[in-house]
Amino acid sequence: MSDQHKYDVTIIGSGPGGYVAAIRAAQLGLATAVVEMADRPGGTCLHWGCIPTKAMLHTAEVLETTRHAGDFGVKVAAGKLDLKGLDAYMKKIVDGNVKGVEYLFKKNKITLIKGRGKLAGQGKVEVTPKDGKPFLVETACTILATGTEIKGLPGVEFDGKRVINSDHALFQGRVPKSMVVLGAGAVGVEFASIYKSYGSDVTIVELLPNLVPIEDADLGKELTRNFKKRGIDVHVGTSVDKVEVGKTNVKITASKGGKKVELSAETLLVAIGRRPLTENLGLEGTGVEVDRGFIKVDSMMRTGEPGVYAIGDIVPTPALAHLASHEGIVAAEHAAGLEPHAINYDLVPSCTYCDPEVASIGLSEAEAKERGYDVAVGKFPFTAIGKAKILGDTRGFAKIVTDKKYDEVLGVHLIGPHATELLSEATAALNLEATAESLFNAIHAHPTLSEVMGEAAMAVHGRQIHL
Ligand SMILES: Cc1cc2nc3c(=O)[nH]c(=O)nc-3n(C[C@H](O)[C@H](O)[C@H](O)COP(=O)(O)OP(=O)(O)OC[C@H]3O[C@@H](n4cnc5c(N)ncnc54)[C@H](O)[C@@H]3O)c2cc1C
Repeated sequence: MSDQHKYDVTIIGSGPGGYVAAIRAAQLGLATAVVEMADRPGGTCLHWGCIPTKAMLHTAEVLETTRHAGDFGVKVAAGKLDLKGLDAYMKKIVDGNVKGVEYLFKKNKITLIKGRGKLAGQGKVEVTPKDGKPFLVETACTILATGTEIKGLPGVEFDGKRVINSDHALFQGRVPKSMVVLGAGAVGVEFASIYKSYGSDVTIVELLPNLVPIEDADLGKELTRNFKKRGIDVHVGTSVDKVEVGKTNVKITASKGGKKVELSAETLLVAIGRRPLTENLGLEGTGVEVDRGFIKVDSMMRTGEPGVYAIGDIVPTPALAHLASHEGIVAAEHAAGLEPHAINYDLVPSCTYCDPEVASIGLSEAEAKERGYDVAVGKFPFTAIGKAKILGDTRGFAKIVTDKKYDEVLGVHLIGPHATELLSEATAALNLEATAESLFNAIHAHPTLSEVMGEAAMAVHGRQIHL
């Protein structure tokens, strides 16, 4: 074997987990290679996930702004969606981000090897290029970061037109007259929000009792109220029994509390989740333990096989880009012989960029009670925040969950204008083990949306001012 294929660390997959792990490993002086089977690095996040969806959401926001410009004393015609312009904008954003990763690879002297990678015995990775012969890479450590693939409905094929998934929903080149979105996790509610703003009649169906079901129940309820106000038809606690795909429409038969629900739309968007890509990775006969497709790891992201780490969406932790990146940093630093901080999975921020936005960190009220805390809650609405009135968006609230004993903030849950940006204060607060009192002692500038945080913290002690 030539030195050309000899590395300290080889990473399989170049999503936000893999490419960040590679940069950190290279910064620490390790000879680093990334094996990627797609044409360009970036993974789901850059090509099919976070980045293009947020561009689509921004276009939706611009459209909505033109529709309400009159409220702010501006006369403009209501915006019309230009599909070609949208496509060009998204491609420019995705391309710019991918170029950024390619630049960082060059800057950090990371070798990008194109092909499908798998473990091939201790200290070896086999790479099969698209049109070439397999070859071996010798490596002291391997980091698996292969991400996920889309999950469909059993027995219902994706045809890209009547029945679509999140990949199809990105670069569709059309806006269906009507759409049923199946699944109200982050991906489902974001696309429901986007297509409503783009002009589709949207219905959203969720099996669990709330939209954004992993969030504090109050956020789901508030989102339902606001989606309904926007004209989105919401069916929670509803299970799909049958999908019939016709030439011009899709019929969905579902049940809700023992009652039959019949829905029909031009397009069905299935957003019921993704499955980890851990097959054909050469894991058989190794110490890597897999449970329902997910790879088991310890706090340093080590698998049961010496020298093999796993990070990102293939490990059983929340499927979020920033978490994948953080896990990548932990794995790379450990591989370099450092002792990084283990991740506190109670403190992973979660953002959903639908309209209105939803964001949270820490424990929900129900989770805090389940863990035995004596819980206090402070809640404050955007209706009483001056800046929200200026922006013409007073939907939603901030909710702070604390432990009565020490006044420690256990969770912050936001829905409303710029909730995803406001979350960073909560992220800092929880990481610094802030109390509600310390949060309201921190002076929040006026007029800003962040005042909602100060007021919610005061509300924990019944001391809110503007309500
Ligand atoms: C529509 C949508 C919107 C999303 N929005 C957000 C968001 O706003 N915020 C957020 O935090 N998260 C979001 N996510 C989730 C986020 O995209 C993932 O959590 C993140 O991409 C996971 O990173 P990863 O590195 O684990 O895997 P991925 O990004 O999936 O990357 C895996 C890479 O590995 C490659 N690969 C797979 N197998 C092999 C192999 N055998 N050999 C070589 N290469 C291989 C793949 O081609 C891919 O490039 C979204 C997801 C979707 C689908």
